[in-house]
Amino acid sequence: MAREKRQVKDEELEIMRHSASHIMAEAVQSMFPDAKFGIGPAIEAGFYYDFDLPRPLTPDDLPTIENKMNEIIASDEPFTRREASKEEARRLLTAQPYKLELIDDLPDEKVSLYQQGSFLDLCRGPHVSSSGKIKAFKLISIAGAYWRGDEHRPMLQRIYGVAFDTREALEEHLKRLEEAARRDHRKLGRELDLFSIQEEYGPGLVLWHPKGSVIRRAIEDFWKDEHVKRGYDIVYTPHIARADLWKTSGHLEFYQDYLYSPMDIEGQQYILKPMNCLGHIRIYKTKIRSYRELPIRYAELGTVYRYERSGVLHGLSRVRGFTQDDAHIFCRPDQLEAEVRGVLDLALFMIDTFGFSNYQLLLSTRPEKYAGTIKVWEEATNTLRRALELSKLDYEIDPGEGVFYGPKIDIKFESALGKAWQGPTIQVDFNLPQRFDVTYIAEDGREHPVVMVHRTVLGSMERFLATLLEHYGGAFPVWLAPVQVRVISVADRHLDYAHKLEAELKSEGIRAEVDTRAERINSKVRQAQLEKIPYMLVVGDKETESSTVSVRLRSGEQLAAQSFSSFKESIKTAIADKVN
Ligand SMILES: [Zn+2]
Ligand SMILES: [Zn+2]
Repeated sequence: MAREKRQVKDEELEIMRHSASHIMAEAVQSMFPDAKFGIGPAIEAGFYYDFDLPRPLTPDDLPTIENKMNEIIASDEPFTRREASKEEARRLLTAQPYKLELIDDLPDEKVSLYQQGSFLDLCRGPHVSSSGKIKAFKLISIAGAYWRGDEHRPMLQRIYGVAFDTREALEEHLKRLEEAARRDHRKLGRELDLFSIQEEYGPGLVLWHPKGSVIRRAIEDFWKDEHVKRGYDIVYTPHIARADLWKTSGHLEFYQDYLYSPMDIEGQQYILKPMNCLGHIRIYKTKIRSYRELPIRYAELGTVYRYERSGVLHGLSRVRGFTQDDAHIFCRPDQLEAEVRGVLDLALFMIDTFGFSNYQLLLSTRPEKYAGTIKVWEEATNTLRRALELSKLDYEIDPGEGVFYGPKIDIKFESALGKAWQGPTIQVDFNLPQRFDVTYIAEDGREHPVVMVHRTVLGSMERFLATLLEHYGGAFPVWLAPVQVRVISVADRHLDYAHKLEAELKSEGIRAEVDTRAERINSKVRQAQLEKIPYMLVVGDKETESSTVSVRLRSGEQLAAQSFSSFKESIKTAIADKVN
């Protein structure tokens, strides 16, 4: 579909969705004549409306409201618009305190009102011509929402709905929602015993359980090896540092809302680090650096702490403490292009290795507020652009979306659910080298400011695990699976053979274990499938006598009987190749 046509279609859908919210409000008003109305906008794929009602809604109310909405749609009530003075609007909506507040906030003397059936709303519009234009909708859920998002104002009840222009599109969307719920990383994390976040320990703070830690270690080992291969030095820096550093960096000023309160150590103020940059700068600055030494690349899986309001915390994707796969490159201006190309290559290699194939690159340019001069900005932005073009990568420009300290390239990748996740980011920084006087001695024998690049390729361990969980629905590729092989003995007399296989696999670094429970084979197989273990080896009399194994996959597929040694070789290859 051409871009223009799609845009028109998107606008039409949005108008239809917004109109559906008015129809839902009319239905709610018919059930609760004293209902007070908040706002009811269109959102992605649907709409919501906020209500102040005499009793809490339950999921059982949704079909009733849907039925009423269907009646309103069937009677094809026209939407009529009219303009009114604020005065008149106040009179018409006198029983609606939230609307009165909205009227007060509107800048113009005239406001517009929309009516369909008995329902009158303050609204800018536009709307569909009549209620019969709503083609396919469904009410999805009820949630609490503070009036105007303010926790000091009343809590209203919000009903979410989805709406599409065809029944098929709606059905398809509902199926996607179901799949998304099935792949919700919080649910999978609990079911697969990977991690927990506990109120008692602290919201937004992640406890990595043994199985989640196995996955994390596999990712970290791979990440470290790949970085060392590509010329990075791995470093470690402490979690707290003197507040003075963050004053020099400008974080205390620009970043204050994300910082935790300082702690006092022997009369000095220390803070929890919100980023790893300053430690790496301090390591760089322990020596005078010559142009010959550059580039210097310091990589760290560095845990940082940032304040997030409890209301926005979400599983592993929005937390208060997380480990970035961070690195800082210190280079000469003439090296920047090659360095950026190197990071792009590494980032795409990582995305590909972890099994993602859809991604989008964005080049963000100078924002309104910026550090440095326009000339340096232009040079750096052109360098990023050239790096993208030389690497033959398609990208889009995100105008004015650079960070205040420099332009950047972001890569967003899509999970199997089609959801976009923030992935690698490459940011040039003109600010910190200047504030901390980070320099090198050039060929001319003089000190020059170094070019600094901040970059992550996975984002954070926490968010990346959430992405992987959603992408694979918990069925990790073999190299990441917490348990790679479950050996299942048919009867107790096969336990010796089962343990022998387990020991041999373990000695090769393969994560194997025996299910020793006195259960039937079928129930052991089902358990392994629930845990999404890639390989099950079923061993009975025949296998024990002939040193073979019957291999089952988590999909339910059964492979031909094979010798144990050939199974061992094939799983070793799968792990080494990082394939499923
Ligand atoms: Zn409206
Ligand atoms: Zn940094």
